[in-house]
Amino acid sequence: MKHYPAKLQPSGITAQLHQIPDLSFVVPAFNEQDNIAETIDRIATEALRLGCLFEIIVVDDGSTDATFPVAKAQADRLPVRILRLSRNFGKEHAIMAGLEKAAGAAVVILDADLQEPLAHLETMLAHRAEGFDVVYATRARRDDESWRKRAFTRLFYALLNLGGDVEIPPDARDFRLMDRRVVDALCALPERNRFMKGLYGWVGFRSKAIPIHLEPRRAGTSKFGFHKLFRLGVTGLTSFTAWPLRVWTSIGMLVAAGSILYGLWIIARTILFGTEVPGWSTLVVAISLLGGVQLISIGVLGEYLARVFTEVKGRPGFIIAEDYSANPRQT
Ligand code: UDP
Ligand code: MG
Repeated sequence: MKHYPAKLQPSGITAQLHQIPDLSFVVPAFNEQDNIAETIDRIATEALRLGCLFEIIVVDDGSTDATFPVAKAQADRLPVRILRLSRNFGKEHAIMAGLEKAAGAAVVILDADLQEPLAHLETMLAHRAEGFDVVYATRARRDDESWRKRAFTRLFYALLNLGGDVEIPPDARDFRLMDRRVVDALCALPERNRFMKGLYGWVGFRSKAIPIHLEPRRAGTSKFGFHKLFRLGVTGLTSFTAWPLRVWTSIGMLVAAGSILYGLWIIARTILFGTEVPGWSTLVVAISLLGGVQLISIGVLGEYLARVFTEVKGRPGFIIAEDYSANPRQT
């Protein structure tokens, strides 16, 4: 990490564009017109205070509001590069677009709504200096969320970490500092179904968690409703677990064993006590239960197959419609 004498700092912005930055900030933004200018400002202020050469990569994830022009206005006076995606590809892909273009020796991912206090950047840099390749923020508390969301999150991470070989920490945020080697490793992964929190864990490297308190969103509303979170959850589960595929073998064996025992019991009963009027409610229950179990297992197969289908099609995760920077890098 280079440090510059205070008087050399702000005038160095143009010069910075010719050099490899110490830090690239990747900011995914979807309809963040009321936040993005302030976010860029705060990042620049903080990076200059810490004496870093920096670039800010705003990924406009198909916003329908003025996010792009607002960010563009900032690019004339600060080292800002804006990648406008051709439509809304989702946060995971927006992050990947930013990571692929980032040139810095380290990359910081940050939400555009300033929920994650930038004051932690200094701590992150300190841990990087200690030799950590990844420094990531974890939520210290979740009491601002509804009990239902908390319960779902807990269940999701419990299922996700069931029998997996990589531990995926439950409260980790996308807010993190990653060394160039980690970013290169992430960019080298070929998969299209991106569940970033799983991939961060999968690539490994020396990691350090720092607990943070989230601030309320600065402006606008959360872009993740139940449906989007649910889809993300399914992507996460199907990309990082295989047990839902295998569990049906065990369930099938249990059900089969149960029916054999039940069959034996019926034979024995018939021999001992003779036939009686068979209760067909038992039959209906057994058939509908098995029907349900079969439908669920076909659904699970379908989810995994859909994943395979997306990968086989080999479409890119995102398309960049415009790559804007006022002072394109010379190197
Ligand atoms: N985001 C994005 N594409 C999307 C949804 C969200 O780039 O399809 C960005 C959003 O602009 C923000 C970040 O992802 O910078 C986190 O989104 P949000 O704050 O809505 O999520 P929450 O904090 O409620 O989990
Ligand atoms: Mg947010």
